[in-house]
Amino acid sequence: MPRIIGVFGGTFDPVHNGHVLTISELLEKLPFEKILVIPNFQPPHRESSQVSYKHRYEMASLAFKDIPKTEVDSREYLREGPSYAIKTVKEVMSEEEGARVVMIVGSDSFVDIHSWYKWKELINLVDFVIMKRPDRPLSKNKKAQNLVSSEWFKKDLFEDGQLNIFEIEVTPLKISSSSIRENIAKGKKIDHLVNTLVEEYIKEHGLYGTESFT
Ligand code: ATP
Repeated sequence: MPRIIGVFGGTFDPVHNGHVLTISELLEKLPFEKILVIPNFQPPHRESSQVSYKHRYEMASLAFKDIPKTEVDSREYLREGPSYAIKTVKEVMSEEEGARVVMIVGSDSFVDIHSWYKWKELINLVDFVIMKRPDRPLSKNKKAQNLVSSEWFKKDLFEDGQLNIFEIEVTPLKISSSSIRENIAKGKKIDHLVNTLVEEYIKEHGLYGTESFT
């Protein structure tokens, strides 16, 4: 069995319980040696983030602090420019010789795979584990859905020599960074959506228009 290294990228604007709890669940289901949590410096698929890289990185570090086998990784900041997944996985592959690198994404991200930079090269380089988000299903894009294995996730996923694109059921959590930003802007509570340390960080730094938020 090869060593399995997960790569979980995102804007994390802000990081939330949907990210942390689903990654914890994946760690129980799959034999990852570690999962690199990689905040995008400049997300390729959106205009920009609402708060700076530094804040997003700090919040991700607080949120994943107590999750074993995870490491928040600043490589995209150091590299600057658009945060293309293919560059990141190539770097990780060269550092982790002999390991199998697995991209971890939500179904809403994979639905747009055809717009990713060098996507064909990417799916021929690494495995994908797609976390099912019921409110944002893969069936929204038949072309993306056709790339996914018709079998559901199986435990010995990484034992065959082939690359796989698998969808996996995780506890559905209807939490998104955008809904958190909206809640804050409306002065609503977010304590059930993010880790306490992240909530405190947001308040302390007045992020997302926190003036009205208690
Ligand atoms: P936004 O609402 O701003 O689009 P987001 O909540 O989707 O943000 P991202 O930082 O864009 O957060 O997500 C990083 C990765 O985590 C993506 O692959 C996304 O699909 C996945 N993800 C986000 N929220 C969840 C969730 N609740 N359950 C499973 N996966 C999630």
